[in-house]
Formats: sequence, C-alpha cells, structure tokens
Amino acid sequence: MENFIVSARKYRPESFDTVVAQSSITTTLKNAIKNNQLAHAYLFCGPRGVGKTTCARIFAKTINCSNLSDDIEACNECDSCKAFNTNRSFNIHELDAASNNSVEDIRQLIDQVRIPPQVGKYSVYIIDEVHMLSSQAFNAFLKTLEEPPKHAIFILATTEKHKIIPTILSRCQIFDFNRINISDIATHLEYVAKSEGAVADKEALNIIAQKADGAMRDALSIFDQIVSFSGKEISYQDVITNLNVLDYDYYFRMVDHFQKNEVPETLMIFDEILNHGFDGHHFINGLSNHLRNLMVCKDTATVKLLEVGGEIKERYKVQATSCENDFLLKALEISNECDMQYKPSQNRRLLVELALIRMAQLTLKKK
Ligand SMILES: [Zn+2]
Repeated sequence: MENFIVSARKYRPESFDTVVAQSSITTTLKNAIKNNQLAHAYLFCGPRGVGKTTCARIFAKTINCSNLSDDIEACNECDSCKAFNTNRSFNIHELDAASNNSVEDIRQLIDQVRIPPQVGKYSVYIIDEVHMLSSQAFNAFLKTLEEPPKHAIFILATTEKHKIIPTILSRCQIFDFNRINISDIATHLEYVAKSEGAVADKEALNIIAQKADGAMRDALSIFDQIVSFSGKEISYQDVITNLNVLDYDYYFRMVDHFQKNEVPETLMIFDEILNHGFDGHHFINGLSNHLRNLMVCKDTATVKLLEVGGEIKERYKVQATSCENDFLLKALEISNECDMQYKPSQNRRLLVELALIRMAQLTLKKK
C-alpha cells in the first residue's frame, strides 16, 4: 500500500516563492539575505497555520545554501540543502516551547548554541510558541539573546505576541504574518486537488477555506478528511454534509421570502433546518453573515469584503440589488439581537421564529 502523507506536509512550501500569501515577509527576508543584513533574532507572530515555522525552515535552509540562485532561493542540490530536505541537517534546531518550557530545557539549548556548526554557516534555532516559556526560562534565555555567538540565529514564533516581554521584543526583528484570506486558500487547495488528481467544485473548496478560518494547515487537513470520505470527486454537497455547513441556498430563499412578506414560508424553512439537525444559533449566525454579505455587495468599495467566490458571489450580487439598504440594516439588527438573546433564552425556537416574523414584515409598510 502506498504511504499516505498528509497534505499539510506533502505540500509544505520549500522555497520562499511558494509560500502562500506572505509575500511582503518573504521579500523582506530575501532582501536581508541578499544584502547580508541578517539579524540575530527574529520574532514571527501571527495566527496558527499561516506559515511561521515553514518560513523559518526555508530561511534556515536558504542562508546555509552554498549555491544560492540569483533570486535568493536555495538550490535544493548542495549538501546542505539535501540535508535540509531530508530532515537531517545539523544547522537547524527546533524547540517546541509548549512542551519544553522549563529553565532546564532552555539551559540545554543555550549549551548547544555555543557549538559552531560543522558544515554550513549558521545554526538556526527555532523556538515555537515562545510565549509558553516560563518567566525563569525567559530570563535564562535573555543573556544568550543579547550576546549570541556569530553563527547563531534565533527565530522565535508565537501566536500571542502580547505575551512576549518587552525585553525580548526589543531584541528581535518582528514580522507579523497575515491570516490567509479565503480566496488564497481556495486557490492553493485547487492546486493541491489538481496535483492529487482530484476533481473539486470551486464552491466546495471555498467552503473548506472558510471553515479553516485563515489557517492553511487546517484547510489542508479538512481537505484530506473530505478526500478520505468522498474520494477523488469533491462536490459542494459532500463538503457541506461532511462539515455540517448549512447550504447557502437556505439563506437566499429566506431573504427572498422576507422581501415578499411570506411569513409562513420562513417558518417552514426554519423547521426544515432544525429537522436536518442544525442548531438554531448556528442558523441565526449564518443568517447574520448572509445579510452582512448582502450589505457589503451594495457598495463597490466594500464588495471585496465578500469572502466567497465564483457563482455564489454572483448570486449575492443579484440578491443585493433586490434589497433596500434600509431593509438589510434593520434585518441585521434583528438577527444580531436574536443572537445576543439566544443563550439566556428559555424558548429558543420561539425567539428565532419571532425574529423571522419581524424580518418578513420589514418591507410591509412600504407597500
Ligand atoms: Zn543549496
């Protein structure tokens, strides 16, 4: 049987140029290498799964490559690159501070730092989740960070920048990684699907990207999960069933009924949604999001805030033109109110139903 490698690992970028959606960071790092202006300590901040450790590894490989290309990418052929690509390089050391956060762990690391590398120019120390270090460990580390040996470069990574003490911050060059937007994730998933010989609906990939909430790693593991469920054909229906996502279609129909003041129909759709096992709160949140999407479609300046693609985007634009601003704003207020009252409410179903009735009557007076 063929060995299964998870996509997040199989498609981990190996060069600066293949890192998704962090081009300002990769460009700055490349320039630093090109101009020989390497800092001794970097702090990579940002949400999980956006490429912090991936960039750190690429950086470590690139600065040790003996045959850099003109556009500052590692050659992948020299001894150092080969060692990096097969995970046996001695120039890179990774410490996960989430599980190794004691003074003893840091002391071991500090002892290691003194030893110059046998091959290559630099020893790179990646400390992941650095905010998890105990304060004593931080203090023990500070001196090394202040006066590091020439060959040592530290890359500290964290999801929680605000927990890093100022004395550390002031000694690092700081890079803020972006949350990856939905269309960038979807485009990358498309590439992965193609490479895997899978056929995927654009909309299906969009849903996966949305569910991943800005993290590529999560998107790729959801992708694997879907592939193991539905094989090489990934349809929108499979994805929404698998991820327990409510079909967009319900919301579009709901808003159409609101516009026509068709109260009974809205209640019947809500009943259908509950019968499918969806939670009322989940629905009302989705409805708020749908109304919000319609609202951003009303203005060309905000339409790019619509984080859906392809056909659904067109559908949003069409429905938005049929809605008055005033209606959207009031409907949003009602669904937002319902969202806030949901948890403490004793009769949640009625609460949602009342909200739907009110929304379906918003355009009444005008007629
Ligand atoms: Zn190389």
